[in-house]
Amino acid sequence: MYNNVKMVHFEPTQMCQASCPMCDRNKNGGEVNQYLKDESMTIEGFKKAFSREFLANLKTFFFCGNHGDPIFAPDMLEHAKYVRECNPEINMFVTTNGGARKPEWWEELAKVVSFVSVNSEMFAGLPSSMVSWSIPKTALGPVVKASIIVSVSNTV
Ligand code: SF4
Repeated sequence: MYNNVKMVHFEPTQMCQASCPMCDRNKNGGEVNQYLKDESMTIEGFKKAFSREFLANLKTFFFCGNHGDPIFAPDMLEHAKYVRECNPEINMFVTTNGGARKPEWWEELAKVVSFVSVNSEMFAGLPSSMVSWSIPKTALGPVVKASIIVSVSNTV
């Protein structure tokens, strides 16, 4: 039934540490959107939503988000490992602000994804009250080393 589906854009979480004014997570960079629950998909829910057969038939899988940043989903690494396990040839991308996680986490991620796009410059001109974090460049080292990063751009 879903054989024609070759690409998935997946938003694993509503969580994020930033408050970008153009984002639907918040009201013009201030108060958090009251309709969000900061929920994330668990690995159990992910496996239920995406069968091995379905993932094996895909060409591309994107971890991205409109209401949250994928790296904040507690089980995102497990999601990515499962996708790779089901489809060794798949192109797997992550779009993130890169502002979290320890080097060990990025090192594990670097083993399974194809490319990480870090959109960080877009935050450069924002007031510090809206950007209460910094990009841990040292943490990103493992993915830089694995040559799967980095597109640092000013677009989402
Ligand atoms: S980093 Fe992304 S998800 Fe987080 S507030 Fe900014 S635009 Fe929204």
